[in-house]
Amino acid sequence: STSRNRSESLYQEALQHIVGGVNSPSRSFKAVGGGAPVFMKRASGAHFWDEDGNRYIDYLAAYGPIITGHAHPHITAAITAAAQNGTLYGTPTELEITLAKMLKAAIPSMDKVRFVNSGTEAVMTTIRVARAYTKRNKIIKFAGCYHGHSDLVLVAAGSGPSTLGIPDSAGIPTSIATEVITVPFNDLEGLQAALDRWGDDVAAVMVEPIVGNFGMVMPKEGFLEGLCKMAHDNGSLVIYDEVISAFRFHYGSAQTYAGLTNHEAIQPDLTALGKIIGGGLPIGAYGGRKHVMEQVAPLGPAYQAGTMAGNPASITAGIACLEVLQGEGVYEEMERLTIKLTEGLQASADRHGVPLTINRIRGSFSTHFCDHPVTNYDEAQDTDGEAFAAFFRHMLDRGVNLAPSKYEAWFMTTAHTDADIEDTLEAAEESFKAMKK
Ligand code: PMP
Repeated sequence: STSRNRSESLYQEALQHIVGGVNSPSRSFKAVGGGAPVFMKRASGAHFWDEDGNRYIDYLAAYGPIITGHAHPHITAAITAAAQNGTLYGTPTELEITLAKMLKAAIPSMDKVRFVNSGTEAVMTTIRVARAYTKRNKIIKFAGCYHGHSDLVLVAAGSGPSTLGIPDSAGIPTSIATEVITVPFNDLEGLQAALDRWGDDVAAVMVEPIVGNFGMVMPKEGFLEGLCKMAHDNGSLVIYDEVISAFRFHYGSAQTYAGLTNHEAIQPDLTALGKIIGGGLPIGAYGGRKHVMEQVAPLGPAYQAGTMAGNPASITAGIACLEVLQGEGVYEEMERLTIKLTEGLQASADRHGVPLTINRIRGSFSTHFCDHPVTNYDEAQDTDGEAFAAFFRHMLDRGVNLAPSKYEAWFMTTAHTDADIEDTLEAAEESFKAMKK
């Protein structure tokens, strides 16, 4: 099989200097049997080349942002021009207005926007703003949704349908975890029960309106309508974490996605953004209704700041990325390729008797090694991690790069071609065959 000697030795060296050898735990191969992750050297379009010169077709897309493929010429040119003009000013620029207007035009619930540097920051700040606005403390979130690594949202579900949180990480005080209530996704009764019990102190209900973090999971019909109504009837705000979902399925967000109906009834008060809107450079943003956003300093009492926020490099890359996504038929083509890929994968798995459930939403999908539908976190957890690990390694050896986690999505980009899909299906056919042995 493929030699990855340089990745092996770089990993040993990285372990001496970088904690765990990686700068984000999701990059480690811990969940797929351990060992050295692949050290990539170069990326272009839909492809990676590693330190040993092996080529990979990439479906990681850096966990979402790289929707136009790596080193897209329009974005690369924009970043180069931005670098020549200075990458960080610490003053306002016209560019920030341009990107803010583009976001507002695509996501009508955002009257006012603020740029930050990551999805984590965006989410963390929406919570502060919601608390400032409602003068309440608690938030309700949904099991399995990931909202970055800030204290409040890194809290898991306890046992039972609606429970106060238990910290999902060391270093989070239980006093903070008890400000978080976790209920199952797609479960309005669970949400109502939580509101009945703690409602007086619930500042916000936070959700990934289309889930990207335990597989790609659509809200059931009526779920978001019910969620918004229950939250608002309770005097709580609704926060959508659209760090993954915005500009992923169409030029807009879940709140305007044609795959969901009744858009007026599913508008949030605050939205958190990141990933795609930075075109591959670090970014986050949050925004929402005018009178809610006016809580934020310098207008209001909720403080949030950032040395790097709104820097010309990230903003320019974001504008360029959205310009590419405005192209005619861009999302339709990603969907066409994704349908071809998922249909082929399913047929191949079926042929070899490997249980496989695929959740596809336009140009993204998740693969679950199980024979039941996946509509919530429990169902997602109940999939075969060892089967995924085997599939992952077979695919890697055959030149296909996936995220090393059984829940993680596959992301199509505008750079993938029919040839990439055909090569991927060939690798998958061999992988499923090898798994059966
Ligand atoms: N929210 C969601 C829905 C995410 O998927 C992520 C990252 N995977 C985040 C927030 C955190 O974003 P970041 O990694 O940029 O801090």
